[in-house]
Amino acid sequence: MFSKILIANRGEIACRVIRTARKMGVKTVAVYSDADARALHVAMADEAVHIGGSPVAESYLRGDLIIAAAKATGAEAIHPGYGFLSENPDFVDQVTQAGLVFIGPSAEAIRAMGLKDAAKRLMEKAGVPVVPGYHGEAQEIVILASKAREIGYPVLIKARAGGGGKGMRRVDHPDDFSDALSGARREAKAAFGDDRVLVEKYVDKPRHIEVQVFGDNHGNAVHLFERDCSAQRRHQKVIEEAPAPGMTAELRAAMTDAAVKAAKAIGYSGAGTIEFIIDASDGLKPDRFWFMEMNTRLQVEHPVTEMVTGVDLVEWQLRVAAGEELPVGQDGIGLDGHAFEARLYAEDPAKGFLPAIGTLHHLRFPTETAAGTEIRIETGVRQGDAISPFYDPMIAKVVTHGADRATALEALADAVSRTEVAGSTTNAAFLAALARDTDFASGDVDTGLIGRKQEELTASAAPSSRAVALAALAATGAGNAEASADPWSSIAGYAHFNPLARRASLSFGGAAIVAHIMARSDGRFDVRPDGSESFVLSADASGTSGATVASWPGHVTVFENGRSFDFAISDPFARAAEIGEGTSSMRAPMPGLVKLVRAAKGDKVTKGQPLLVLEAMKMEHTIAATHDGVIQEIAMEGAQVTDGTVLVRFEE
Ligand code: ADP
Repeated sequence: MFSKILIANRGEIACRVIRTARKMGVKTVAVYSDADARALHVAMADEAVHIGGSPVAESYLRGDLIIAAAKATGAEAIHPGYGFLSENPDFVDQVTQAGLVFIGPSAEAIRAMGLKDAAKRLMEKAGVPVVPGYHGEAQEIVILASKAREIGYPVLIKARAGGGGKGMRRVDHPDDFSDALSGARREAKAAFGDDRVLVEKYVDKPRHIEVQVFGDNHGNAVHLFERDCSAQRRHQKVIEEAPAPGMTAELRAAMTDAAVKAAKAIGYSGAGTIEFIIDASDGLKPDRFWFMEMNTRLQVEHPVTEMVTGVDLVEWQLRVAAGEELPVGQDGIGLDGHAFEARLYAEDPAKGFLPAIGTLHHLRFPTETAAGTEIRIETGVRQGDAISPFYDPMIAKVVTHGADRATALEALADAVSRTEVAGSTTNAAFLAALARDTDFASGDVDTGLIGRKQEELTASAAPSSRAVALAALAATGAGNAEASADPWSSIAGYAHFNPLARRASLSFGGAAIVAHIMARSDGRFDVRPDGSESFVLSADASGTSGATVASWPGHVTVFENGRSFDFAISDPFARAAEIGEGTSSMRAPMPGLVKLVRAAKGDKVTKGQPLLVLEAMKMEHTIAATHDGVIQEIAMEGAQVTDGTVLVRFEE
């Protein structure tokens, strides 16, 4: 076994690999970019090497720097994780030439499967069923269009270099073929620098079922059953599970045989996935599945397979790369219960799933789960870490296991509902809605399910009056249990320095809210939002109300019934100015982008005059002068700022 390996990745997968390496007594080296200097994977590794700037092209895609880091630290092998350099055969060659081991398949195997058209031709030859279509070299529009007619509409145009659903167009009518082809080519050219395409039959009621395979360098190859990844949004996986719901013995035998055949056809070594598409319009039939592509790496969704087979796939990767034989044969791999994985993202389902950024001011994952179920959280971030615009905005993978599908799914819905994130918008409520959807629960899932029910799954909800009252109390500072370990001391401070009655003004979704707060003699508070009844609340809101409250700069987030409600404190800027008093500066109350600057150095400004516009949490906030003065320094337009950054400094 290796004594030290380098992990050429970041985030949850780097942390995941480090955990197994540590368990096996293998030392780890992390690499990191500027933005990741304080990242969890860096803290977890035995050693860490800074490789470059925040953009991936300056760091995580710099194979040369990564290999140099491995040499410098004495690592013997490189684990690529997924994404980045994981399926780059040239990188594999460079690693090998440097005398290091690539923890993954050979460069030849990656090349053989790298292009969808060539892979399909190869699989056809190996006797694996492939989607009916044209995977040839010809790219002239007349040929492709006539092939499309032969195949029969609807058809799917796919970039041969494709990935992540890019360069893919469904065409329903011959008249639309030409436009769709140009669109697919444009997208493919931009994403992969290769605009060649293939055309295939668009499968009706498609389900995405993939088989995990594993090979070693001694000619062995096994499968570890299937995963169903049909819950997709725009061809991107949202929730994955193992085994596939409704799987029959015949179809499983046919699919796993085909997958092992595919792996053997290219002498595959390491972890790989054969993706199939299934026509489920008439149930699951053994003659209705076709090879789509092979992913020559560990998949994001590998934990569901680990949960049902009990195999640590990363451990197998290390063993196989070190030259060992697969630890068990096919007969030694069993299937136990059912597992789900949900991908928790910083994104806004209400705004078309726009990726979000932000500092994770509050981050809690559930640890308890119902008897007989298990929960596993795969994450690369901690509370206080930021989701930056540089990388994939995944916050965590929430994985559950239960004796059967219904139990595991209930555990997933519950786990996602109890996950608390403040500081960035997330898809948590959407995931919970999907996990509780009746069609999804019935197992009748095809890749179009989310699209058809998107409106229902992303419906927003309004906070209860009680949640509003909790937010209002927290907004005054009295309910900020996190600021003080002892809620009584914060109340004492509240009563001492402030009048006993206060008004809190905050806003939710742009609508202003006013609440009236009275301190009671028992140390609690009467809180009455305008137009609502009054609530008696304790300052330690989290302990008593069934809802949790998180305060962060300029905001209060209330978690209630699996949803999070983000309230903006109406005048965080006044608060920020208070903090800055004496130093005569104004600070950003939250991370954001300086959109517009309306004053310059040397300008004489008066109190209340708008100075700049800060775009934060997708809203624009005008920052006005807190007092009269002359500007000594002001933030630059276009600057990305974190909370606490000085935006304006006044001359003394
Ligand atoms: P990418 O490599 O870009 O992710 P894939 O070939 O893996 O592309 O396909 C991604 C998804 O697109 C599949 O999971 C499936 O939902 C859908 N898809 C692919 N091929 C077809 C097809 N022939 N018919 C219908 N849907 C398809």
